[in-house]
Amino acid sequence: MTTATAPESRAFEADVAKLLRLLVHSVYSDRDVFLRELISNAADACEKLRYEAIADPSLLGDDPQPRITVRIDAEAGRLTIEDNGFGMDHDDLVASLGTIANSGTKAFMERIEAAKGEGPEAASAQLIGQFGVGFYSAFMVADLVDVVSRRAGTDQAWLWSSDGQGGYTVAPAEGDDAPLRGTRVILHLIEDAKTYLDRLTLERIIKTRSGHVPVPIAIVEKPGAEAAEVGSGAALWTRSRSEITAQEYTDFYHSFAGQFDEPALTIHARAEGRHEYTMLLFVPGMKPFDLFDPDRKGRIKLYVKRVFVTDDAEIAPRYLRFVRGLVDSADLPLNVSREMIQGSPILTAIKKGVSSRILSELEKLAKSDVAAYDKIWSTFGAVIKEGLYEDFERRPQLLDLARFTTTTSGDGWRTLKDYVGSLKPNQTAIYYIAGDDAARLAASPHLEGFRARGIEVLLLSDQVDSFWVSAGLDYEGKPFKSVTQGAAELDLIPLPEAAPPQDAETSERIAGFVAFVKETLGEAISDARASERLTSSAVCLVAPDSGMDRQLEKILAGAGRIGAGAKPVLEINPRHDLVVALAAGGTDDKEAREDAVRLLFDEAKILDGEPIADAQAFAERLGRVIRRGLG
Ligand code: ADP
Ligand code: MG
Repeated sequence: MTTATAPESRAFEADVAKLLRLLVHSVYSDRDVFLRELISNAADACEKLRYEAIADPSLLGDDPQPRITVRIDAEAGRLTIEDNGFGMDHDDLVASLGTIANSGTKAFMERIEAAKGEGPEAASAQLIGQFGVGFYSAFMVADLVDVVSRRAGTDQAWLWSSDGQGGYTVAPAEGDDAPLRGTRVILHLIEDAKTYLDRLTLERIIKTRSGHVPVPIAIVEKPGAEAAEVGSGAALWTRSRSEITAQEYTDFYHSFAGQFDEPALTIHARAEGRHEYTMLLFVPGMKPFDLFDPDRKGRIKLYVKRVFVTDDAEIAPRYLRFVRGLVDSADLPLNVSREMIQGSPILTAIKKGVSSRILSELEKLAKSDVAAYDKIWSTFGAVIKEGLYEDFERRPQLLDLARFTTTTSGDGWRTLKDYVGSLKPNQTAIYYIAGDDAARLAASPHLEGFRARGIEVLLLSDQVDSFWVSAGLDYEGKPFKSVTQGAAELDLIPLPEAAPPQDAETSERIAGFVAFVKETLGEAISDARASERLTSSAVCLVAPDSGMDRQLEKILAGAGRIGAGAKPVLEINPRHDLVVALAAGGTDDKEAREDAVRLLFDEAKILDGEPIADAQAFAERLGRVIRRGLG
């Protein structure tokens, strides 16, 4: 290009050198973003032209289709980002590129805001970015940046040029290099940024960072080559739901999330009102391998006006971390730092809206397609249940979404509504048994008394279960109560075939035996008592009335979060023939009775999945008892 007059030199309107260094070295930790920023600016300029052309169609001339072209000139070490958007004149260049942190876009946004009353087009103009540092990210990869621009509706093109060291020049630009309309940003790449001259690298960055910019993007591989389109300028989620086929959604899910399965649920919705955003979310059909990896992040990407901003915004709560997809906000600024976005009240509102939407869509599915919902629950229920203690506000909703295996469920799932619908007379609690082994739970002696009375018990075998059940929740006024905790109020609920009460003599003997058990086991237990809980086993261990659920206690102790748990209560079945016989045995053979009591205690521990601390003593005791039995 040639310049008619000597270029004027100006200094940046701030201590730009310092700011640039800060920008290049800290604000943007990831160099690839320069391309996103320049493409965003180009797209902004196209949007701005579209908006201005509403009032003055002549601005479009004979080139009405917006486009962005990325040109590679490997020989010259130059990368050019070009658009046929609104462009800049002399004063625009000085005002927009000469003033750091003063954004022309921002001023434009204010104009749009003011114009909102005048027509719907004004409000819908999509502009990216309100922070005036975006352009300067070019200096992360270039030591000289030329901007040649011609503002729509003007004849004169201008060349702005800077090495990013604190000053710039502006001069009229002539000749073939000056665009007819729009802007050409020419980056003279520094040596270690020459990787950005590789077409495939650029394609990858454009696809991941700007693939959904509303303007078509093409790459010209070398001077004179044909332009090859990289992005079509159409973002799936901006189209209306009725125009999108199931296959298109699935294809998008596959390419966007890198998945291969069929999504189990697709949520595509637009929020309007105070905040405008679109969400396109997928519940995967398969469990990802790292679902329980504590470092696993949420997978919902945040876009601002179709420009990818971050996948680190934690848009959904942790208990929905399996959901994939994106949220595209029309209100957020395309911010320079994640931290600033994180603190934004707009993002807070989006998070809330997205979480509610996911849950309400799950609710809908649970009603409309039970099999599909049950499949989602089987895959992700253990994660969703984390919400029961993490998300106080949505707890009632989550309790309704929860599905359970119970002592009466067979192969199907039961809801809490089902459960409370089949309460026994006088039953005031929702009973559960928690543990890590579903088969052992179902066989636990703790369940005997409940089974005998036909009381349903939730079988909770996910790690997370012990946590939420101990959070003091209730469902429809019914508290959750562990069958291992305290004396279950079984006495109040009649047995279908009540056993005849034991005669006074037997009762007295049993009481004597219980006292003997207490004396024998001493410090090892906190109490011993006769119990209605058992029907076929002789003994079982339960938590003291005020104690923590024994399963939770074990998990916490295992994680080193608490010391050794509270001592258990040993419950004794007064109708069990062993117990009756031992109680009748008198005090004659004290050693034999002590051995028997200790073995019963060991048995209770084994049934509870607890190791026997002193295996040697156990073996000796067992040996003595067998020998006695042999006569
Ligand atoms: P932001 O995009 O957040 O406003 P930038 O630093 O990226 O900040 O850009 C500063 C300003 O420069 C923009 O607001 C715009 O007015 C102007 N600008 C940058 N690139 C272009 C372009 N390709 N076409 C027209 N104007 C541009
Ligand atoms: Mg910008």
